[in-house]
Amino acid sequence: MFCWLNRLNRGLATPTGRIPQLIWGTFSRSLVLSSQRRIPEFSSFVARTNTCGELRSSHLGQEVTLCGWIQYRRQNIFLVLRDFHGLVQVVIPQDESAASVKKILCEAPVESVVKVSGTVISRPPGQENPKMPTGEIEIKVKTAELLNSCKKLPFEIKDFVKKTEALRLQYRYLDLRSFQMQRNLRLRSQMVMKMREYLCNLHGFVDVETPTLFKRTPGGAKEFVIPSREPGKFYSLPQSPQQFKQLLMVGGIDRYFQVARCYRDEGSRPDRQPEFTQIDIEMSFVDQTGIQRLIEGLLQYSWPDDKGPLGVPFPSMTFAEALASYGTDKPDTRFGMKIVDISDVFRNTKVGFLRDALSKPQGAVKAIRVPGGAEVLPVFLKANRHWNSPVANFIMEEQGLSLTRLIEIQEEDVILLTAGEHRRACSLLGKLRLECADLLEARGVVLRDPAVFSFLWVVDFPLFLPKEENPGELESAHHPFTAPHPSDIHLLYTEPEKARSQHYDLVLNGSEIGGGSIRIHEARLQHHVLEAVLKEDVKLLSHLLQALDYGAPPHGGIALGLDRLICLVTGAPSIRDVIAFPKSFRGHDLMSDAPDFIPPEELKPYHIQVSWPTDSEAEKKSLNHPHYPES
Ligand code: ASP
Repeated sequence: MFCWLNRLNRGLATPTGRIPQLIWGTFSRSLVLSSQRRIPEFSSFVARTNTCGELRSSHLGQEVTLCGWIQYRRQNIFLVLRDFHGLVQVVIPQDESAASVKKILCEAPVESVVKVSGTVISRPPGQENPKMPTGEIEIKVKTAELLNSCKKLPFEIKDFVKKTEALRLQYRYLDLRSFQMQRNLRLRSQMVMKMREYLCNLHGFVDVETPTLFKRTPGGAKEFVIPSREPGKFYSLPQSPQQFKQLLMVGGIDRYFQVARCYRDEGSRPDRQPEFTQIDIEMSFVDQTGIQRLIEGLLQYSWPDDKGPLGVPFPSMTFAEALASYGTDKPDTRFGMKIVDISDVFRNTKVGFLRDALSKPQGAVKAIRVPGGAEVLPVFLKANRHWNSPVANFIMEEQGLSLTRLIEIQEEDVILLTAGEHRRACSLLGKLRLECADLLEARGVVLRDPAVFSFLWVVDFPLFLPKEENPGELESAHHPFTAPHPSDIHLLYTEPEKARSQHYDLVLNGSEIGGGSIRIHEARLQHHVLEAVLKEDVKLLSHLLQALDYGAPPHGGIALGLDRLICLVTGAPSIRDVIAFPKSFRGHDLMSDAPDFIPPEELKPYHIQVSWPTDSEAEKKSLNHPHYPES
């Protein structure tokens, strides 16, 4: 109760957390109700009286009915029954009068599902199992019913039994029986519930469902297409509800949220999913700070109690600083090893590649210091007195001394050095920084404490970036609806590449878990960005441009990647472990074998026909990712 109230107070204390008196009246009543119902009724409406995992000495003497799966049996005397809540020991009756109960419990194969009724008794002295939460008691069975028998399983339902991920995904319904998957999905559900409560009940947000069948959106990720019965016309699955949430603002639904399914056809990526879930939010009359405080309050409120309190406000860093110090726009701030600019040390160098790099525009020499790295890394530039490196011969004593001072080099440290264009040099060192962290941790050095959650806002992004495949053209750093920094609007008409944006990302332990922006709410500016800067076909967005012209309020929003967030909170190795039915990295459902072929006659109504690849094209496709197994 205390902690619940505490969280409530924290939510209310946020600047956006003012609740009108009228609502507050209803609110305090619901507060009492929900605090009385802190522990959910797990056994209401069903055949059991209790869960297997909840029974303790305090239940001694109670008559209970349990339903669960047979985890294992010992010498036809004991049977261990399992449900999501835990394990409990059942004593198989041995006397003649209970022969039929004994037969059921001894003959049912492991993982069969049974219902037993009996009395909670204490285990005989010396037979308690302190490792089992229910280890002080057992069930003296009176009746038993086999609800359904289980065939031989493809793998054992025990968390410690190793199985390939492909097999787990093929039999996902069995994999879900594991305590790990149960824990992950239940924690996800609890966090989402708290988020809904925070948004709807504490801050007056409206949960609105938006369509899944939509049309092509210019820019951004590739979309999945869905054929329609009209020749040549296709729906697209939305990569996010971005346009709808902005249109809701025009419609006066001024605080929107949705637990939204998004679809992106980005090809095979090891830790991405073609369909994933966002906590999608949009508000009118808000600025960047308003959105940031809202999200901090939301995370604080929904954060699991056992993960420790979250400190707010989260620290903030500019994009330029993130790139310069960590070589990425999603820095893992749990450890140091920051990038240092050492260009000045080498202004007069004789080393050819350093001189070359420094003479180019944006040319720089950068370094990171890997503490104790000499023990684990193949040495490139070792920082002891002997400068064990091929470059060392060319480093003058004076340069060596300035370097030692600038990077605070200690014996046994390794210095990694790059020379080149600022952005590329930093980004390379950023990747090496993470590789080095992996190497050091593999040797037992703790750099990234798994119990630490390091949140960070990254702000002041450029509005546009040069396209990777064609650096002469610009693309949006976030998406085309993002507003420029108010003092940079004029740059959109002169030097758009220099404009800063009102885009912000939320990073947790080096992963981007959210992103959003204040939007352009004037049709004229939005038209200019789409047509003149991004060279997009404005006709595709004429509905949105039109809507902005009908009194669109200023607005902004954000989306949190729910799968990634839960993955980090649970410490799961992959986002697939926090999704009930995920796809393999190739986008396949290994359980049902989707996507599947459709007979040509069923394609006819859609006026489409398959153009089959030649053998060599097909082979090339399947060899695309030789390094990853199907999952
Ligand atoms: N729709 C954006 C995304 O999916 C988030 C936002 O700008 O609110 O990244």
